[in-house]
Amino acid sequence: MAGVESRIEAPVPVGDDAVRPFDVAALDLRGRAIQLGPMLDDILSRHDYPPPVSKLLAEAIVLAVLLGSSLKFEGKFILQTETDGPVDMLVVDFRTPDAVRAYARFDRERVAAAEADGTGDPATLLGNGTLAMTIDQGPMMSRYQGVVPLEGISLEEVAHTYFRQSEQIPTRVRLAVAEMHVRENGAMIHRWRAGGIMVQFLPEAPERMRQRDLPGGDTPEDVDFEFVEEDDSWVEAQALVGTVEDHELTYPGVPVDRLLYRLFHERGVRVFAPAAMHDRCSCSRERVETMLGRFTAAEIEESIEDGAISVTCEFCGTKYVFEPEEFLKRAAQEIDASDSSGS
Ligand SMILES: [Zn+2]
Repeated sequence: MAGVESRIEAPVPVGDDAVRPFDVAALDLRGRAIQLGPMLDDILSRHDYPPPVSKLLAEAIVLAVLLGSSLKFEGKFILQTETDGPVDMLVVDFRTPDAVRAYARFDRERVAAAEADGTGDPATLLGNGTLAMTIDQGPMMSRYQGVVPLEGISLEEVAHTYFRQSEQIPTRVRLAVAEMHVRENGAMIHRWRAGGIMVQFLPEAPERMRQRDLPGGDTPEDVDFEFVEEDDSWVEAQALVGTVEDHELTYPGVPVDRLLYRLFHERGVRVFAPAAMHDRCSCSRERVETMLGRFTAAEIEESIEDGAISVTCEFCGTKYVFEPEEFLKRAAQEIDASDSSGS
């Protein structure tokens, strides 16, 4: 095609665990793609989750990384599901610019039963409830939270609903997770891999995103999605993303640039500097100490086991052990202080 420039002439592989931002100007698309390897494996291997739970959490991690890494300010992006299925909570916490931590809460017996009777697919494991995405820019700024229903659908589908309802941006997401067995030093080792691609339709010409003008005009900012769905560029983009196979997102031999090239080289895809992501928890002894310092004497008493207070970080599994005396003394002093100030 004349006049179309493709900047991935010969794809240069981006390593694992790095987000690759890109755009396709001819289709008014912006996007990001990632393949997770060692980082994901580190997070998941720290927990003793059954494989279907690890798989679900891995999907949530990919989604959170794709979304969180696009934030242009310092803060946190938190993706959290709360549902009635065997896996009743997933939390992925992304701290800008690159720190990821995550955990799942689940009922081991129900997960095993679901696996046994063949209902261990991600949507059924989650069940019905909500998915919340929270953007937290620190104590001086207000928190933004978008909540969408999760009703027997996949995280991929719920992401589309989220962008439609909360962000008003036509978005397509593909997520995939794979378990691999690789030979290392003569032994077969189990490895988790995952990947994802997200494309968003952001035309510069406003008439391409015709705003819906409802009678009464109470939601004049609503984008008319039926109109956008028919836009030639967006139709083409969705069709292309629809051809992405799971193995293209997870297989180590198919780096994300090669996938981007396959999808968009005829239209001219431009890639930007990759951003490496890291498995990094924000817990610390000081933070746990501060939290315990807010406990009442009764709460401290309740937390004592075998003469000590031990707190385990749900995200990274680090165990912090404290002597209770100091906290009991502090709690008692606070009661004295409030008594005297009240009299
Ligand atoms: Zn931690």
